[in-house]
Amino acid sequence: DRPLAGKVALVTGGSRGIGAAIALRLAADGAAVALTYRSRAEAAEQVVKEIEGAGGSAWAVPADSGDAEAVWSSVAGAVDRFGRLDILVNNAGVGVLGPFEQLSLEDIDRVLRTNVRAPFLAAQAAAAHLTEGGRIISIGSCMAERVAFPGGSLYATSKAALSGLTRTLARELGPRGITANLVTPGPIDTDMNPADGESAPLQAGLTALGAYGRAADVAATVAHLAGEGGRYITGASLAVDGGFAI
Ligand code: NDP
Repeated sequence: DRPLAGKVALVTGGSRGIGAAIALRLAADGAAVALTYRSRAEAAEQVVKEIEGAGGSAWAVPADSGDAEAVWSSVAGAVDRFGRLDILVNNAGVGVLGPFEQLSLEDIDRVLRTNVRAPFLAAQAAAAHLTEGGRIISIGSCMAERVAFPGGSLYATSKAALSGLTRTLARELGPRGITANLVTPGPIDTDMNPADGESAPLQAGLTALGAYGRAADVAATVAHLAGEGGRYITGASLAVDGGFAI
């Protein structure tokens, strides 16, 4: 019942929220987990402690996804630390919402660097190490699947790019037995999108289930894709959104 025993995962943005839940879940399933963070070293060390406390292996590395060198060295660092790489989870992401005419060049560059360029670079770097059975799982968003309210132009643009990347990776890496998939969460209770936030009732109301999801709900699907259950799933987009995008 430790289906990922012997595997090594790298989870970007693993210090809080969905990424932390993914790191904890993959570790509970037996993987050694490297997790990146931008600035919250304490939160990242807390996740490492929790994993180690449960008998697992984890390592936290500061790596701003906006910085290409940092992305490359986090992949190399995970391989150095644990000797191999089997699972890449592109989770780190930022959201800047607002009327599209008001978004600055700085906003556009920052969001695209973090949400698009980083997963692209991490996939390139990881592909050099992944072997048969390898997995690349990226976290998109329901906001790229259904535009239910205004203000999400930049965020949706960035997350929509991941479906092009994912499907192409599936084609290019398929012959090596490596899969690539996208998971698109709906409103999930995290610091980025708290379930008691101002727009929470609107977001919850747009789902079929009428409620926010938990980070662990997303992690469960990532774990399924990472494990044997994901063997024949590639190029797919799986919504964990309570029915937001239907
Ligand atoms: P949070 O803001 O709660 O957590 C973000 C995590 O990513 C933190 O660990 C943070 O590190 C890290 N991070 C942020 N920017 C960078 C960066 N430039 N470099 C490295 N790490 C970074 O976000 P969520 O957990 O809510 O979101 C995780 C992913 O899920 C994102 O891609 C988001 O777009 C997506 N998503 C979230 C939804 C939601 O409703 N919550 C819905 C749909 C998609 P640190 O702790 O150091 O700041």
